[in-house]
Amino acid sequence: MKNKFVEPDYLVDLVQALNRLPGIGLKSARRMVYHLLQYDIEGLEILSKALINANKNLIRCIKCNSFSCQQICQICSNPDRDNTILCIVETPSDMNVLESSKIFNGLYYVLMGKLSPLDGIGPKELNFEHLIERANTDKNILEVIIATNFTAEGETTAHYLSDILSINKNIQISRLSRGIPSGSEIEYIDSNSLAWAFIERKKTKISK
Ligand SMILES: [Zn+2]
Repeated sequence: MKNKFVEPDYLVDLVQALNRLPGIGLKSARRMVYHLLQYDIEGLEILSKALINANKNLIRCIKCNSFSCQQICQICSNPDRDNTILCIVETPSDMNVLESSKIFNGLYYVLMGKLSPLDGIGPKELNFEHLIERANTDKNILEVIIATNFTAEGETTAHYLSDILSINKNIQISRLSRGIPSGSEIEYIDSNSLAWAFIERKKTKISK
């Protein structure tokens, strides 16, 4: 009878856990695990503590819906931000891109996704109620900029949001300008183009 090498269970669990991440194939996951175990036990400790802490302590900011350690995140509680403009983005990564480009000094709302009917993701799944309530009850907000991606789903989301938010006549709804190629994702747009898209943003027209 041949002896077949079987990797220890805990090792397999770790490989499979890393393999769940986007862009990490089984091979890369295994390489990472062996690297940590062989050469960087301290790194393994740091990683495991960071994972536990993130899982235990990160919550959603009650205002912008992004990840935060407090009920209201640092951006939402910063008195130097322009609280008259609310920028809607799909993901926390998009928010980070805008933050690091220093283009925008208003407040955000993070959808944590986009409308995708084929995947069963509709307004309910994305909790649009929370966003609508935020936009309608915060009397400081004068403008909402819809900065979803320029993909088909991002555009559908933008159109839908524009429709429901424009019921409130006290708010101006804008969409990032079309200097950005169709199909683009905010995360991969250079900061110059992004800055122009903000400056040249267009008031949305509702087609009925
Ligand atoms: Zn916040």
